[in-house]
Amino acid sequence: MSMNRRVVLRSRPRRNIAESDFEIESVALEAPGPGQISIDVGFISVDAFIRTTLNDAGFHGTVGIGAPVTALGVGRVAASGDSSFVPGDWVFGPTLAQTHAVMPAPLFVKIDTTLAPPSAHLGLLGMTTGLTAYFGLLEVVGVAAGETVVVSAAAGGVGSVVCQLARIAGARVIGIAGGSDKLRYLTDTIGVDAAIDYKNEDVASRLDELASEGIDVYFDNVGGELLDVMLDRMASGARISLCGAISQYQSSEIRGPRLYLRIAERNARMCGFTVDHFSARFDEARQRIVEWMRAGRLVLPEHVERGIDRFPAALVTLFDGGHKGKLLVQP
Ligand code: NAP
Repeated sequence: MSMNRRVVLRSRPRRNIAESDFEIESVALEAPGPGQISIDVGFISVDAFIRTTLNDAGFHGTVGIGAPVTALGVGRVAASGDSSFVPGDWVFGPTLAQTHAVMPAPLFVKIDTTLAPPSAHLGLLGMTTGLTAYFGLLEVVGVAAGETVVVSAAAGGVGSVVCQLARIAGARVIGIAGGSDKLRYLTDTIGVDAAIDYKNEDVASRLDELASEGIDVYFDNVGGELLDVMLDRMASGARISLCGAISQYQSSEIRGPRLYLRIAERNARMCGFTVDHFSARFDEARQRIVEWMRAGRLVLPEHVERGIDRFPAALVTLFDGGHKGKLLVQP
């Protein structure tokens, strides 16, 4: 009998997640029923929103104790009970954190592996990474040549893409990340104009040197104290794209910015978004991303952890910052 190995929630984390909050269990793999597909999961996207689903009441739903952990992934259809899919199709959708998934077919979409390899459909072409960067920067706030753009969590999945899209638009890009290795990655691989190590440098005084005329666009992946540092340095007419607040996801109480009045004082705008709001335009964005990718203007290195057993450690890594580029698990 074929077995599925999956990551289940053992205990609800009170604050920082630990590998011990999860366990791996094996269950028999069932054949898909009518309207279902069976998927051999190829790659799982390790995403920040997963942390919020481990709380009692999360915006993206709540994982029950003993239930499989929520995750998006790509995989190959092994068997199909739905006429829209045939074995061999590559698909994207809510695979959960497991080696095999038997799921309702309508939850999944086919991916075009002639555009890019399957893992890139979670990375550069992925909803929670490349498409989030694309819409969050180019549509939500916009960017013009010559503007100064600051990106937090710049060496991660979304951040790496935002930095490059801003460069393509002709902006001057300052990336913020933790540690000298990430700073090297940002300057050498991603091509930012300047990088700040928030773990070892004073971000405020570095910004005063690097952006003395003020910040035109801040792409916020982090929230927390860093957001106040940016609010205090916005140029007149500046825009903030509120993409996420990873510094806050592990706490029970999300803290907002203290200096929010700077938005009024600087005639600035702060706009939040969820990427699925733009779903009708995903194909259009993918086409443009592929053009930049093929022209060698857009890259996204992948950090791949191998084996489903590595999923809990990978999720911890996402918050500790132990990866560069897109973090994936190959189950
Ligand atoms: P990621 O950037 O690949 O990984 C998260 C990074 O955050 C880590 O590498 C770490 O880098 C940094 N970090 C963690 N704690 C931090 C803290 N306290 N202060 C500063 N930096 C911290 O993750 P991602 O999947 O690309 O997600 C980035 C953001 O996009 C998240 O906030 C996520 O919620 C958001 N998002 C939003 C949408 C949407 O629709 N709005 C969709 C997808 C993702 P360092 O080593 O540099 O600390």
